[in-house]
Amino acid sequence: MSQSAGVTIVNVGYRSTNYWVVSAGASRLLVDLGFPGTMGMMRASLRRMSVPIEEIRYGLATHYHIDHAGAAQELKLAGVQLLVMESQVTAIPLMKTWTKPRDHYLDITRHDNTTVSFAESRALLGQLGIPGEILPTPGHSDDSVSLLLDDGSAFTGDLTHPALVGEDAARVVSESWRLLRDHGASRVYPGHGPVRPIHAE
Ligand SMILES: [Zn+2]
Repeated sequence: MSQSAGVTIVNVGYRSTNYWVVSAGASRLLVDLGFPGTMGMMRASLRRMSVPIEEIRYGLATHYHIDHAGAAQELKLAGVQLLVMESQVTAIPLMKTWTKPRDHYLDITRHDNTTVSFAESRALLGQLGIPGEILPTPGHSDDSVSLLLDDGSAFTGDLTHPALVGEDAARVVSESWRLLRDHGASRVYPGHGPVRPIHAE
């Protein structure tokens, strides 16, 4: 667990994927939302890390791939409001095309989510007592977003290092990292692997 400015961060991840709970006291945001059909594992992990599920006000997927948003609808049924960024709306219905019946994926309903623009994100996070914003960070996918806290913590999902992608994608990926750095990102909380300092340009 890490802490700064009254905001705490815990990892409730499993299966080599990080799911971050960002909390201002009992006001909590879950960043990335579990594999399909794994609500039991999610509940156990939340319990283990002493996070009451009813205190999670919103769930945000960094992008709509099954390891990051597969249990979104299950979380909604457990009372977690789904926070959808404007650039993610069209990605949601594509999720089911990547799942197999054995995944037990529950399709995400679209009429009951909270959809906001990036410009509105700071005010919404402010309602939770979490100082920060949500930025569009495409590259790994068009719908990829990052949560950036004002203390420099950046939740980047699967945004890759520019050196690890092809030339075309590298430009988009580099732009996304630049945006994060320009907005003060210093520490990366990735979708997979350990927390690390942001790389130099
Ligand atoms: Zn992905």
